[in-house]
Amino acid sequence: MTNVNPSGFSDTQPPWYVTTAIPYVNGKPHIGFAQEIILTDALARYHRLKGDDVWFLTGTDENAFKNVQSAGQEGIPTRELVERNATLFYNLRTVLNLSFNDFIRTSAQPRHREGVEKLWRACYENGDIYKRPYSGLYCFGCEQFYTESELVNGLCPEHLTAPTLIEEENYFFRLSRYADRLQELIESDQLQILPQKRKNEVLSFIRGGLKDFSISRSQARAHGWGIPVPGDAEQVIYVWYDALGNYITALGYAGDAPTYERYWTNNPHRVHVIGKGVIRFHAVYWPAMLLSAHVPLPTSILVHDYVMLNGGKISKSLGNTVDPVEVVERFGTDALRYYLLREIPTTEDGDFTFERFMHAYNSDLADQLGNLLNRVVSMVGRYYDGIVSAPGPLEEVDRGLVETAASLRGRIDASLPRFALDEALDAIWNLIGAANKYVADVEPWTLAKLRKSEGEDSHAGERLGTVLYNLVEALRLVAYHCAPFLPATAEGIAKQLGISIATGEHSRDISREAEEASWGRYPAGTSVQPGGVLFPKIELPK
Ligand SMILES: [Zn+2]
Repeated sequence: MTNVNPSGFSDTQPPWYVTTAIPYVNGKPHIGFAQEIILTDALARYHRLKGDDVWFLTGTDENAFKNVQSAGQEGIPTRELVERNATLFYNLRTVLNLSFNDFIRTSAQPRHREGVEKLWRACYENGDIYKRPYSGLYCFGCEQFYTESELVNGLCPEHLTAPTLIEEENYFFRLSRYADRLQELIESDQLQILPQKRKNEVLSFIRGGLKDFSISRSQARAHGWGIPVPGDAEQVIYVWYDALGNYITALGYAGDAPTYERYWTNNPHRVHVIGKGVIRFHAVYWPAMLLSAHVPLPTSILVHDYVMLNGGKISKSLGNTVDPVEVVERFGTDALRYYLLREIPTTEDGDFTFERFMHAYNSDLADQLGNLLNRVVSMVGRYYDGIVSAPGPLEEVDRGLVETAASLRGRIDASLPRFALDEALDAIWNLIGAANKYVADVEPWTLAKLRKSEGEDSHAGERLGTVLYNLVEALRLVAYHCAPFLPATAEGIAKQLGISIATGEHSRDISREAEEASWGRYPAGTSVQPGGVLFPKIELPK
């Protein structure tokens, strides 16, 4: 389950590299990770549709001590637990309709281990790794030491459990050496952090003073699980140091592979999508490790907030989770993609409740979109034997719809670079709303009656053809712009309109992009293909 697409990049298309954080595999995927990987998938598809040569990486963080603990509780070997759960994460590819190019497993692939060893040696040779005794309060859930001031009532702020006092010899990374350089890179946006509030948070953390941090643990505490420290078999590389390395080890950093040169070293778009809980590791520790190793830094870190569950934090240890696989089995992939992309704001906390989910499904997907498609395709069938006629001149009532459709490209293109995918979906639903309003305003059924009494060549006859063309064209543009976000829905709409559409599985030729995205490109004379209902309505419990 690696190298899903072999590297067959084209030199003419700009490279664009995007990653998710790699999740722990001590349990099943939860909905928070589904959100992260769907956001990343939408970005990857969007850029492929813009013609970029995208490399989308995800994978699993398998060297955590937590896996040893979980396997112990189940009474199975750690390797078995990791294999079983990594498969569940890989299988999200089908469940969530993802387009990742590669999947890295940190405990199972030599490219990762060799790359982490190389990264360690590079930092060591630069004088940034040294050994000293350490004692601290450690949360096993987070695999992280906490200072007293970071604890909430003496408890881990993530897990609400009491940390354990750990004492041992560790290797440390000389983070303190990089504070000024990091501050300068982040302030100047050479390392861009979005949104602004997260950039501010990182800068204030750096200004507060950076302390060297532990990057190893004893073999005994690790129970022999993890990557040994090069040259010191008594120590294992700390899981965070190891896991962060995946972003370059997957590309072939160990052997300076062509994929590493293309998607990391010589690429102006090295983008990490992460949750707010791991920002310090990605925006401070990781760039400092790369500075030390003389490796280029990421160019952007895009930080999403959390999916809350019924107003509370989702947490495996709190027993408060939603299984994305079950949601998809009940409601379909795009219903979940839609909810996580639009109803959960990209950079704010958002609430997942089944009540809200079903409401959004019925109202936005079934009523507004599914019903619109169904009505338009049936009217073309009923009034024109299924063939879309060429439009006549536009009238005043048409202009609102045309203008809304024409502004869509610009609105989406303004949202994505700000990491506001929810706003891109707002813009698409704004067009869907405009199309529904247009149906109510122009009343095609009234035009059809008039046409019957006044004839094909009457004003009503010509208007009916124009109105239906406009609705078909609006739906084509909805499908076109939905493609990165709701790929199967985009395909479903296109199929019923009798056309084909790209959904960003592969990079494409963009010479016709501007043309395809502009109004009036639906080929008149095309036959619609009535299909099933796009989003069958859900019966709500009384
Ligand atoms: Zn914790």
